Amino acid sequence: MPERIAICPGTFDPITNGHVDIIDRSLRIFDRVIVAVLINPQKRPLFDSNRRVELIKASLEGRDRVVVDSFQGLLVDYVKKQKGSAIIRGLRAVSDFEYELQMALMNRRLDQDVETVFMMPSEEYSFLSSTMVKEIASFGGRVTGLVPEPVERALKDIFQNA
Ligand code: ADP
Repeated sequence: MPERIAICPGTFDPITNGHVDIIDRSLRIFDRVIVAVLINPQKRPLFDSNRRVELIKASLEGRDRVVVDSFQGLLVDYVKKQKGSAIIRGLRAVSDFEYELQMALMNRRLDQDVETVFMMPSEEYSFLSSTMVKEIASFGGRVTGLVPEPVERALKDIFQNA
């Protein structure tokens, strides 16, 4: 049987426990999961792409079927290059749905062979976003339990030394 490879694309600025939840669910269905950080020059991230990759690697330590990478350009081209068969996206609430549907249908139009698979996180993470985590951390709030430990430390370094 050929290896089933899924691509988990995103900004991951930074990775949260919601992302980790979705990645772990994907590992139950796929042989290999490639977590792919999108390098988007139009966005102004808190962490640059190399740091985001580092933080994901540190957060996912011990998961030997996960690969962490970054990419630029069209997602479907990257998926083909990696011999992936599916794109994994997380759905938190109905509010995510419209944008995600639009992207999934556009990606299908660009490449018929790539399926998008949506996964729901555990309820405790269904309100969680990278944006919210950054906001809480920037005001000195505790993000314990919302993000992996390496991310918690990285946020403290930025905001407590600011
Ligand atoms: P993007 O800019 O591509 O949306 P994100 O890093 O914000 O990048 O999200 C990447 C993927 O992870 C998306 O599919 C998003 O819906 C999903 N995601 C983000 N936060 C959560 C969460 N708390 N629970 C489940 N999925 C999530």
